[in-house]
Amino acid sequence: MQDNFPNIVSKIRELYGEGFIPLHAPYFGGNEKKYLADCIDSTFVSSVGQYVNLFEQKLAEFTGAKYAIATVNGTSALHVSLILAGVEANDEVLTQALTFVATSNAISYIGASPVFIDVDRDTMGLSPEKLENFFKNETVMNTDGFCYNKSTGKRIKACVPMHTFGIPLRISEVVSICKKHNIIVVEDTAESLGSYVNNIHTGNFGQLAAFSFNGNKTITCGGGGAIITNDETLAKRAKHLTTTAKSPHPFEFFHDEIGFNYRMPNLNAAVACAQLEQLERFLKNKRITAEKYSTFFKEIGVDFVNEITNTKANYWLNAIILKNKEERDSFISYTNEHEIMTRPIWTLMNRLPAFKNAQTDDLTNSYWLEERVVNIPSSYRQ
Ligand SMILES: *Cc1c(COP(=O)(O)O)cnc(C)c1O
Repeated sequence: MQDNFPNIVSKIRELYGEGFIPLHAPYFGGNEKKYLADCIDSTFVSSVGQYVNLFEQKLAEFTGAKYAIATVNGTSALHVSLILAGVEANDEVLTQALTFVATSNAISYIGASPVFIDVDRDTMGLSPEKLENFFKNETVMNTDGFCYNKSTGKRIKACVPMHTFGIPLRISEVVSICKKHNIIVVEDTAESLGSYVNNIHTGNFGQLAAFSFNGNKTITCGGGGAIITNDETLAKRAKHLTTTAKSPHPFEFFHDEIGFNYRMPNLNAAVACAQLEQLERFLKNKRITAEKYSTFFKEIGVDFVNEITNTKANYWLNAIILKNKEERDSFISYTNEHEIMTRPIWTLMNRLPAFKNAQTDDLTNSYWLEERVVNIPSSYRQ
């Protein structure tokens, strides 16, 4: 494999050219400056403005969800989605050990505890099989009709599957298993804008889903996020909670509960609107890059992560799976020395100080992937 490192570097240079190659650079090739200037001229730069509403409308159209609510970032979208799912302090929420820390942080903000379940090797997303086993072995349905964790006695309220790097997981299976156990599903779709399962956009399978438009995501507005849902009551509450829970009134300030200042500012929404206009183009471009990578890595006998059947990935971040940790480390060192940014997948959540006491189920696949998965340059190619 070491022999192949120079070939891989040449291939990446063939795709992305000379100089330093980042993992995922934002691309502003549309109306970003025009909309920003318009936004500033209007003086409506903050939490009220036409671009926020327009972005919500366009995002709902794009994803096929009935409602979209724009937020300041993906983490806040997750936080509020979990509150809307009914998660409270001392509840438990099932999620992946293999995810970005924001997923587990959002659960902790409420005072709830994450319980870490394994992922599938091929999708790197929550494993329906492992989830089913967890329910069978570790939980009980009480006479109140709710699901409880046998070892902690706590109620399990929600499940947060995450579509890793935009590769859709087996979400229909996850949702039907959760339904049987009266558990609400909140999809972490931070990485999966433009990813589909059976031609349905990810985020429409759970009751709620949270997107991110951070600088490194498929589209960005600097910082931003959104909740989507097909439930009108949840949508109204999402808007209410993210706008300080203010009761509508021409001049009086009345807030009917503790809300959050989580609404996306109009400045960010202006950029978000311009980015969304280019999304189809970004996705086509990224799919071509992924196909080129896939063919190349097949030729040299390296495992490239592809979408599974009946799904369509956005190929936000391309990933390869190396033989072991040693090979992974030398590959990351070699490519970065050659000014090509590559990086390992996240450290598993149960290894982080904040979550070291969390309950973990069998994590065989998570540990296996943790040692082997590397992200390679995946930006839009000009
Ligand atoms: C990016 C990301 C988030 C959080 O998004 P922010 O906008 O950075 O707050 C949440 N979950 C996952 C899996 C992410 O990749």
